[in-house]
Amino acid sequence: MAPGRDISPGASVQGKDKSSTKEIITDTNNNAVSMGDDKSISDRELDAYMERYNRWQQSAAGKWAQDKLADWTGLKFDNEIKWKNVFLLGTLHLVTAALFFVYVWEATPVTYLWCFFVGGCAGFGVTAGAHRLWTHRAYKANLPLRVILMCCFCMSGQNTLYDWIRDHRIHHKYSETDADPHNSNRGFFFAHVGWLLLRKHPECIKKGRLIDMSDIMADPVVRFQEKYFPLLKTLFTYVIPSVIPWYFFGQDFMLSFLSNCLLRNVLTLNFTWLVNSAAHMYGSKPYDNRIQPVENKWVSMVAMGEGWHNYHHVFPWDYKAAELGDYKVNVSTFWIDLFAKIGWAWDLKEPSKELVKRTIAKYGDGTHINGKIEHLAEVPYPETQKTQ
Ligand SMILES: [Zn+2]
Ligand SMILES: [Zn+2]
Repeated sequence: MAPGRDISPGASVQGKDKSSTKEIITDTNNNAVSMGDDKSISDRELDAYMERYNRWQQSAAGKWAQDKLADWTGLKFDNEIKWKNVFLLGTLHLVTAALFFVYVWEATPVTYLWCFFVGGCAGFGVTAGAHRLWTHRAYKANLPLRVILMCCFCMSGQNTLYDWIRDHRIHHKYSETDADPHNSNRGFFFAHVGWLLLRKHPECIKKGRLIDMSDIMADPVVRFQEKYFPLLKTLFTYVIPSVIPWYFFGQDFMLSFLSNCLLRNVLTLNFTWLVNSAAHMYGSKPYDNRIQPVENKWVSMVAMGEGWHNYHHVFPWDYKAAELGDYKVNVSTFWIDLFAKIGWAWDLKEPSKELVKRTIAKYGDGTHINGKIEHLAEVPYPETQKTQ
C-alpha cells in the first residue's frame, strides 16, 4: 500500500509545483475529505499516482491478484487501501453483528418504532434530498424543506452533501468505467462498500474535477452542512437518535444507543449501498438494455424507491426516480408529492409519457409492466388525476 499524502489546499506544495498552485487552491472537486481522502492533490501527484497504479496492476503480484482473487471473490484489488475506513466501517459492522441479539431480546415496540422513524428520516434526506433534489435537480424546494432535508441527510451517517453529490454526478456521467466511484464492473463488494475502503481510481479523481458543482455551492444550506459537517453528523447520526428515546420515552440508554447508533446506522448505510451494488446487477432492463443498472423491487422497498435504477439512469431528472408512482415501493415520492401540495416543493420534473413509451420500445429488454419487472399497480398520472 502506498497511502496518498494529505495536503491541505494550497499549502505545502506551492513552492515546488507552481504550475498547479492555482488549481490546488480552487480545486475542491477532488476527493472525499470526510472519508479520509486527500482534500486536494496536484496534477503532478495525480500523474504519479496513476503511474504507481498502472505499475502495480501490471506487476506479477497485481496481475495475479486481478486474475485469481478477483475471480474467486468478485472483488478486484488495487493498492491504495484506506485503513482508517476499513477499521471504522469494519468495527461498526462487526460490533453490530456481535450485539445483534441484545437488541432482539431487549428491544421494545418503542425501540422498533423509533428506529423505523429515524431510518425513514435518514432515507428521506438521502433519496429526496442529496439524490433527487441536489444531485439531479429533479424539483425545487424552499428553504425550510431544504433545511429539513439536510438535517435528515445528516442522520444517514454518510459523507458531506458536497462529496455525496459530486460522487453521484460522476457515477451517472461515467457509469461502469474507471471514473465511476463505485464501478460495478469491479464486483458486488466493491460497488457496495469496497469503494469506500480504497483510494479512488486516479481516473475518477481526474473526472471529478470536471464536474460542475457551482449550483451546489451556491446553496447556503449545503455550504452550512459542509462547514459544520463533523458536528452535524455527530448530532444527527448519534446524539439525537439515542438521547430522545432515553430522555422522553424512558428507554434504557445503552439499548437506545446500540439500536440507533449501531444497528439502525448499519442498515441505513447498507440500504443506500444496495442501490450501487444490487441495483446495478440483479434485475431487468425494461427501459435500456444497453446499460447495467436494473429494476430491483427489493432495493426499492428498503431504499425508499431508489431501486428502479434502469429507469433512473435513463431519466435521471424524474423526481420520482421511477416511471410509476406507487408509493409502497417509492416512499420518497409520497413525501415529495406531499410537500408539493403544501407549496414547499415545486417544478417536479418528469419525462413525457410518450418519450418513455418510445424509449421502452426502442431500447427495452421487453420486460416492461407485464414481464418480470414486478412493478405494483400503476397509479394515475400526476398531471391528470394523481391521488394521495
Ligand atoms: Zn447507478
Ligand atoms: Zn441518480
